[in-house]
Amino acid sequence: MSATDASVENDRQVDPVSSEVAGDDLDITPAPADTEMLEALLDNDHPRKRAVAEWARTNLDDPDLAERDLNCTFWREGWDRLAARNMFGLLASPKYGGQGRALTAALLELEGLGLGCRDDGLVFATTSQILTFGLALERFGTEAQKDEWMPKVVSGEAIGSFSMSEPESGSDAFSLQTVAAKTEGGYVLNGEKAWVTMAPVADLFMVFATVNPAVGRWGVTAFLIPADTPGLIVGENKPKMGMRTTPFSNITFDDCFVPETAVMGAEGAGASIFSSSMEAERGFLLVGSIGALERVLDDSVDYGRTREQFGQPIGAFQGVSHALAEVKLGHESARLLMYKAAALQQRGESSMIAAALSKLAGSEGALAGALAAVEIHGARGYVSEYGVERDLRNLSGGVIYGGASGIQKNIIARLLGLPA
Ligand SMILES: Cc1cc2nc3c(=O)[nH]c(=O)nc-3n(C[C@H](O)[C@H](O)[C@H](O)COP(=O)(O)OP(=O)(O)OC[C@H]3O[C@@H](n4cnc5c(N)ncnc54)[C@H](O)[C@@H]3O)c2cc1C
Repeated sequence: MSATDASVENDRQVDPVSSEVAGDDLDITPAPADTEMLEALLDNDHPRKRAVAEWARTNLDDPDLAERDLNCTFWREGWDRLAARNMFGLLASPKYGGQGRALTAALLELEGLGLGCRDDGLVFATTSQILTFGLALERFGTEAQKDEWMPKVVSGEAIGSFSMSEPESGSDAFSLQTVAAKTEGGYVLNGEKAWVTMAPVADLFMVFATVNPAVGRWGVTAFLIPADTPGLIVGENKPKMGMRTTPFSNITFDDCFVPETAVMGAEGAGASIFSSSMEAERGFLLVGSIGALERVLDDSVDYGRTREQFGQPIGAFQGVSHALAEVKLGHESARLLMYKAAALQQRGESSMIAAALSKLAGSEGALAGALAAVEIHGARGYVSEYGVERDLRNLSGGVIYGGASGIQKNIIARLLGLPA
């Protein structure tokens, strides 16, 4: 056999598309569900994603965005438009009015939303409602809780908030101090929760508290508590660096009584509910930022082609073109890792390391890309008028929420077999 023949033979053996060529005993024809996942992974121009991006450009282009960003104002009208498109029902079961889409299909739509909608805060609010709150409620709520609340969460009529962090317990989440003391017919909650996304406008809170501080994580219990419950006090909207159009505040429990029916799952099941929710949050919450990063990259490439200095487009300077190549690398890596985590979850396989890698790549890639965009746009990147600096502020928070980057690296290191 000549060298050429040998290489052809090798090519045949690894041909990924034809099981006939590979051999009768090895069926590598992808199952239809796998084909869909592969398409989401490989097709950056997936029609489902492009359709939502186009819809968002037309329907969510708010001329008051800069002012709302300045004043930290949530856009309820935009929320209602998303509701009318049934975006909050992407993943939810049709039984509750949802679309019941597969995870990868839902992510394609949310990625398109991040790409087409310049209000990153509205996108963050949407992903929080679907991926953090809605998913946990449908997975872990009691039948009565789901029957009462899921239709409202899906329709956008009820805004949900997921409340774990406290002033003294962030990364070390299970050191929480909010106590739920057992009493006749229910529990009395006391304590303070911090940095709760959407709290100032929320109708319903998923709250983690301990029924027994002495047993650590085994005492952590999840409760579903309507916002108008006496003793639940919602703080003022806190101004923050980015995502200013997503309201957020602390909430306080002052002898707040909740009935036994408010418990999600069972007493003491809160830690596993939280951990499972975090795996979804890690894997996919950055989907909107990945979409936004593509927009940042597109805008920067346009600018690099049109802005001229020294008689030529700045994109012809290697300093600029290589910076954009790095942004592309960050975007593509984040995207591939996110869809890998989604494909694993969809197949019912462990996605722990993939989810942590996805969170890390999505958040760090978005932050680095938005910073590069500011530099490439020069003064236009730095002033507020063009929105480039707003994207940097918005995309910086991903390295903190949903588990800070240091925690993701700890998870990856532990799964590599390194000592804790
Ligand atoms: C925009 C935004 C929205 C948020 N929304 C919500 C919400 O809806 N609900 C909610 O419950 N919380 C929310 N949070 C809170 C968020 O989850 C916490 O901020 C996050 O878990 C980090 O906790 P911390 O701020 O207390 O920082 P800390 O835990 O004090 O960490 C500070 C720094 O130390 C590092 N660090 C800490 N421990 C370790 C370690 N063991 N190894 C290596 N590094 C470590 C961290 O990586 C970080 O860089 C939100 C935060 C932000 C910024």
